Amino acid sequence: MKFISTRGDAPSLNFEEVVLAGLASDGGLYVPEQLPQFSTEEIASWAGLSYPELAFKVISPFVDGEIPDQDLENIIAKAYSSFRHSAIAPLVQTGHNEWVLELFQGPTLAFKDFALQFLGHLLDYILSKQQQKVAVMGATSGDTGSAAIEGCQRCDNIDIFILHPHGRVSEVQRRQMTTVLSDNVFNIALEGNFDDCQNMVKASFTDQSFLPEGRQLVAVNSINWARIMAQIVYYFYSSLAVGGPHRRVSYSVPTGNFGDIYAGYLAMQMGLPVKQLIIATNQNDILHRCISENDHSKRALSQSLAPSMDIMVSSNFERLLFDLYGRDGDEIKRLMSEFEAGSMRLSDNALATARETFSSFRLDDDGMLETISAVFADTGYLLDPHTAIGLAAARSERTETETPIICLATAHPAKFPDAVIKASEKRAISEPSLPHHMSDLWDREERYQILPNEKSAVHKFIQENL
Ligand SMILES: *Cc1c(COP(=O)(O)O)cnc(C)c1O
Repeated sequence: MKFISTRGDAPSLNFEEVVLAGLASDGGLYVPEQLPQFSTEEIASWAGLSYPELAFKVISPFVDGEIPDQDLENIIAKAYSSFRHSAIAPLVQTGHNEWVLELFQGPTLAFKDFALQFLGHLLDYILSKQQQKVAVMGATSGDTGSAAIEGCQRCDNIDIFILHPHGRVSEVQRRQMTTVLSDNVFNIALEGNFDDCQNMVKASFTDQSFLPEGRQLVAVNSINWARIMAQIVYYFYSSLAVGGPHRRVSYSVPTGNFGDIYAGYLAMQMGLPVKQLIIATNQNDILHRCISENDHSKRALSQSLAPSMDIMVSSNFERLLFDLYGRDGDEIKRLMSEFEAGSMRLSDNALATARETFSSFRLDDDGMLETISAVFADTGYLLDPHTAIGLAAARSERTETETPIICLATAHPAKFPDAVIKASEKRAISEPSLPHHMSDLWDREERYQILPNEKSAVHKFIQENL
């Protein structure tokens, strides 16, 4: 299978190349030249498969023989063996024809484990075949860093360096990163804010001359194609569990960078009968403004109690735009340069096509707290703040109640105790506790290096630890 850039000017890549690539050289994002297609009969025949078996069915057409089937099965099996629930992605019913899909059963309690457990093993496999070693480098304000560290900690061909802003991530999030003591894992607490961390990573990718011969940096951020691909699987899995593909299913997705919900769109393009895809945002609502009133303009970032959705620009949205504009790279180039200047407007045609599938919803902190508290009072089920926004969106935007609706539960409530404690000011809620496999998190040894916000210091640290 070939992968092409959304801006039309970069060389096309094969699967293994696209796994190692970040942005395309023309600034675009890679997408498959053609998506695999599954018939309703074929999807229906997968009804009894386990999560890893289903993952193989969905993923193997993208790999297209570049990795032998048996090896791909092993990579998938290893990736999901770290999950604590034998269903991997269990559904919990929260109302009539309404479910949440618990995507937080992986090692770091957020859905990012689905992609990063898989990506870690996949990268390690490709690198050992090519007899190459790389350094993964990334900046995190929370969930991504811990999921990436967990995904890479057993990889022989990867050293991983994750920068977080010193003193500015939550205690749970820091400990999830810093208590992984594998000797290829390096946590850097940078004296600065998240933007400083990101700028440091960007500058390091631009000039990699500080690395020894033969080493390169690899990014595992949410534009990585393999991450998106792994997320397509749970749309098929959950649909099959509620009567798909013979009935259509709707999904509501707490959205930041548009990666998770874009995977749902791909599942639909590949043949899964989906009725609605609901984009749920917090007060950082660029996508909601775009879908509802064609206002795709940058606004200042606002800190919310659902911090994993605090983004100013949703990078994966470009991949959807590419389809909405008939896969015309020149159009995307023009549109993105318009947006660089602050704002873009979609054509009537593109907006109408988007609205056939997507609707959108925005909820601020207070509405989110009210949802956590109301759903707990009603069902005894405790939502995390991101999932609460998703469930409120599902209830507000679904057009009828005969179609099952599934809200993606992107994190475990114990990961965001502040929001849950605030919600209990409305009605009493039991405080969330960490799942048993993490209950000793507060006692584990931590290891991290505090460094000044200086390129020379960070690069010296990396050189010494490769
Ligand atoms: C990353 C994240 C999101 C947003 O996912 P995108 O793919 O960026 O849209 C939502 N909720 C949680 C808990 C996350 O960690």
